[in-house]
Amino acid sequence: MKTYRIAVVEGDGIGPEVVRCALDILAEAQRLVSGFALDVVDAPAGAGTYLERGEALPATTLDACRAADAIFLGACGLPDVRYPDGTEIIPQVTLRIKLDLYAGLRPARRLAGIPIPLAGAPPIDFVVVRESTEGIFASLGGGIVLGDALATDTQVITRSGTERVVRAAFRLARRRSRPRPRVTCVDKANILRSFAFFRKVFDEVAAEFPDVASDHLYVDAAAMELVRRPERYDVLVMENLLGDILSDLAAALVGGLGVAPSADVGDEHAVFQPCHGTAPDIAGRGVANPLAAILSGVMLLDHLADAHDDPSPRAAARRIESAVASALAAGEAQTADVGGRASTAQAAGAIRKRLT
Ligand code: NAD
Repeated sequence: MKTYRIAVVEGDGIGPEVVRCALDILAEAQRLVSGFALDVVDAPAGAGTYLERGEALPATTLDACRAADAIFLGACGLPDVRYPDGTEIIPQVTLRIKLDLYAGLRPARRLAGIPIPLAGAPPIDFVVVRESTEGIFASLGGGIVLGDALATDTQVITRSGTERVVRAAFRLARRRSRPRPRVTCVDKANILRSFAFFRKVFDEVAAEFPDVASDHLYVDAAAMELVRRPERYDVLVMENLLGDILSDLAAALVGGLGVAPSADVGDEHAVFQPCHGTAPDIAGRGVANPLAAILSGVMLLDHLADAHDDPSPRAAARRIESAVASALAAGEAQTADVGGRASTAQAAGAIRKRLT
């Protein structure tokens, strides 16, 4: 029986509240499936850790993350806890850089029982794959401001950075096993050379995956198409800032941050976390929606199954998904942000009791 080590960064605000619910459900699903074990290691980081120890991401936490098979993170940072230069505590971003987590996976899947803003309730099930190490964010801290007259940031698109994230997108499309798998390249290749280069590299990599269809969409059209015809899309891959923006649009399409899971994946490491932040406005009130964290846990189990060719974590993941669907169908797992009345504990409890 395989034992997987999970480094857990509970973080701040609602982070610990939703992480504990998700871990409890993961542990129960693991117990039911058997065939694998989870060894959970506490890895403190965030604003609270900064206040306590003077550092947001202690070396021991980074070591624990490096040694783990997967990292599970709540959310980090609080608006009123800042470094002397005024910036916020963001260990989740430091982890992305230190562990070279180049592919941000942001699935948008409609869940029955969660209200969505679109009329007609189309069957939404696509994934935004966000390149997470370069693009315009490569300019972080390196832009130029000339007096009060001019400011620049430079977009960086490399061949190797593009190839690896596009390959990740095509491999993901294969794993999703949709009847007609397809990867869409989202860019602004009509205007900027860097995006035209991204598209050229995309087309070269697409040729390596003849079983997966490919096409292109300009980002402005993508923003409109994802609202008008979201059911048409499967996997979409794009530069960092474009992914940053469209992944929030994707979360809104399926019911908001409270239900949006995510993963940041590299070749060696992977972090799974809800898309939302620490929600200081509701922290400590027991009303946070735990679904995004629980579904991030499902992604973690699928990742373990893929990375270790082990069917057991996948079986546990499917059981959690069924329990979520059944609890939502009964109207027992909807928290206030999605129009329900359940507390965090009630929503998680409704899911847990349906695990079989
Ligand atoms: P946020 O996601 O924390 O909150 C935005 C709004 O969504 C709030 O009204 C909040 O109550 C609501 N919300 C978020 N998650 C919810 C949930 N699970 N259930 C119900 N409602 C939920 O974003 P913000 O307010 O911009 O940021 C707050 C703090 O979180 C900041 O310090 C920010 O830096 C940090 N942050 C961290 C991460 C991360 O760790 N990955 C991501 C985003 C923001």
